[in-house]
Amino acid sequence: MSRSTSGGSTPLVMVSDIVQYFYCPRKVYYLKTLGVPFKVKKKMELGKDEDDMEEERLGERKTIYGIQRSLVNEIIHNIYLEDESLGLAGQVDTLLHLNGNEYIPVDSKYTEEAFVQRQYRKQLLAYSILIDKTFRCRVRRGIIYFIKQKAAECLEITELQKKALIKDVESIRRIIAGESIPRKSAESKCEYCEVRKFCV
Ligand code: SF4
Repeated sequence: MSRSTSGGSTPLVMVSDIVQYFYCPRKVYYLKTLGVPFKVKKKMELGKDEDDMEEERLGERKTIYGIQRSLVNEIIHNIYLEDESLGLAGQVDTLLHLNGNEYIPVDSKYTEEAFVQRQYRKQLLAYSILIDKTFRCRVRRGIIYFIKQKAAECLEITELQKKALIKDVESIRRIIAGESIPRKSAESKCEYCEVRKFCV
């Protein structure tokens, strides 16, 4: 059975939905179930430009996102991955293929605060699951790269965390299917939320 991103039989969950869900579950409901338009912030566009420049600079670096260059076999940018059985899809910013057939997803963030938020970790887990399925491997670590601070944070990825993420994906799918209106998150998040004018 085919999956759909727009209200077909079984909704496809995008990795970006997971990030929004862990920011605020209700945000997923507005963006995906009700289709409230999402306006890309200037800061996000700036981050994309900086990230593109960093990709170009990688050729001159002695280390690749903190990994010794000699260990890196291949650097793959902007790879779209989808797994039909899980109903999950997303585009990985950068995928490192190391000697010994290890794969490491890298996600770049453009933010003032260089600390790993829960949604960043969940995003890496989702990519890891997709990489495992696509390349028949087992991802054991992922990297968050803070563009502004030029800092790479390497995170351990476990099989238990991946299992928990698959349950989260099911919860998100129920929200997208419109089975329930999810709870709000802490009010402090509303100030920075792109859908707050629609949110009651
Ligand atoms: S305005 Fe607040 S409660 Fe509403 S979706 Fe945004 S973060 Fe969630």
